[in-house]
Amino acid sequence: MTEHDPWMELLQDVGAIQNGHFLLSSGRHSGRYVQCARALELPKTATALGAALADAIGKSVDRVMAPPLGGLLIGYEVARHLKVPFSFPERRSDGTFALRRGFMLQPNERICVIEDVVTTGKTTLELLDALRDLGARPVAIGCIVDRSETHQLANLPIDSLLQLAIPTYVADECPLCRQGLPLHQPGSRDMTAQETR
Ligand code: ZN
Repeated sequence: MTEHDPWMELLQDVGAIQNGHFLLSSGRHSGRYVQCARALELPKTATALGAALADAIGKSVDRVMAPPLGGLLIGYEVARHLKVPFSFPERRSDGTFALRRGFMLQPNERICVIEDVVTTGKTTLELLDALRDLGARPVAIGCIVDRSETHQLANLPIDSLLQLAIPTYVADECPLCRQGLPLHQPGSRDMTAQETR
């Protein structure tokens, strides 16, 4: 991957990958911030990303599943291009995943799990476990941006449009602080805030 990778360019153009100086929720600093929801803001872009990710999966699957919220839109677009059903799990009060709303899996159904971003892979691994408990067979994992170090989870490769390593720093050792770059806190913002107008 280079800065001239076409997906890198597109994701930066739509604001899904932002460059600057960011304060992360962990308290660490970073020069890059990923917000994939921005890549799915325009349905046309979401459809194009879904088509490309469906091609990257390269495996025969019976169903696409994605964990809420991040995976839902891109999961649906991947399912559209693979021409298979899409369903999603929900969290029980104890935090584990359940299938509700009458969604049913066939025994040994081949499942492709889609996420917007995989970082630690914790959510994806939880969903893989829940699917195996339900008697389904997870056979593929896909995401728009793969920020994992291993590019695989539970012996399944992660198919992605972009592999991206983002260095983070404790404040005392942040080279961006040393350059005097203003620090921004990304994330939620009051929709009525004047600064967004
Ligand atoms: Zn800093």
